[in-house]
Amino acid sequence: MERLVRLCYKQGGYQFAKKPSDIAREYGIDRIARLASNENPAPPSPAVIAAAEAALHDVNRYPDERVDLLTTALRKYYGDYPFVTGVGMDGVIETLIRTLVEPGETVAISTPTFSFYRLAALAQGGKIVTVPREKDFSVDPAALVLAAKTAKITVLCSPNNPTGNATPVDDVAEVLEGIDGILFLDNAYVEFSDFDYLPLVKKYGNLVIGRTFSKVHALAGLRIGYAFVPSWLQPFYLRAGTPFTVNSVSCAAAAAALADKERAARYIAQVKMWRKRYREEVKYPVLPSDANFVMVDVAPHAGDEMVEKLARRGVIVRSCGSFTGLPDHYIRVSVGDDWENELFKREINLL
Ligand SMILES: *Cc1c(COP(=O)(O)O)cnc(C)c1O
Repeated sequence: MERLVRLCYKQGGYQFAKKPSDIAREYGIDRIARLASNENPAPPSPAVIAAAEAALHDVNRYPDERVDLLTTALRKYYGDYPFVTGVGMDGVIETLIRTLVEPGETVAISTPTFSFYRLAALAQGGKIVTVPREKDFSVDPAALVLAAKTAKITVLCSPNNPTGNATPVDDVAEVLEGIDGILFLDNAYVEFSDFDYLPLVKKYGNLVIGRTFSKVHALAGLRIGYAFVPSWLQPFYLRAGTPFTVNSVSCAAAAAALADKERAARYIAQVKMWRKRYREEVKYPVLPSDANFVMVDVAPHAGDEMVEKLARRGVIVRSCGSFTGLPDHYIRVSVGDDWENELFKREINLL
């Protein structure tokens, strides 16, 4: 019966990191550093948990389709922008592509980068154009415009996963000026950088900025993301989404998480400190990063091989071997708790 499955789902799919429980079982290790998925290592605050618990009491009812609680919190935090929400930023990406891309239309992607854009666009019948970054992984805006001029959506991740570098605001503006379609700017890690792209939102009617509660806000398990969208796009996005997309518990938790600026600031400071320490204290070249992870050049080892070796030593990191357009000698390592980072540093320096 497998012949019935659509072609785009017969190959590949999203690559998940090794599970700590599998490693523990395989190698008999019980203390495992989880540095593969760029999660916040700390659980949410008591206030966030209380807000989620309170929302649980009403889950016999459908959630608010307008997601007022969360969008009000977002407006209070950022100012009066049009927002949309989704089941993780992944959900936002999927809905955005569904809103805009007819079968056969082009989605241009600046690569190497996060793999889900490609999967989501293919699932919608989109045609992919990959636009390689420069040798140092920076983006040449003129080259991106040239390749993406007529694309329906152009995707740029900044700070970029997995390379860690961010694209200057002026370069993003140049892309926005040059392309005919929408620019989707993935800002999953922007809170860890010193870049501010929001001035572009008011100026350009073709910019969508995707954000997530999974990273700085420590809610990866609740699957909630949002985006700044041009106001003309908002009603169509809502039509393209499933009814009642975002659940009420996630919304309540996300609104509460936004309020806790001090906690976010502490985590960001921890990330900035460790990015620097990784660069100074790891024996392999660590690329400069504006995110809560770094990419490490582990040549002459292959990324896959290094991931396996570190796993045996109780450290889970991500191989970059599966990122299209990237040589196979890189790994991506999150900033975790102090003990996790120390363990990673000690173990990789022995390899
Ligand atoms: C983690 C991540 C996301 C997705 O986040 P969710 O909100 O958990 O779906 C999107 N883009 C990039 C680049 C990411 O690394």
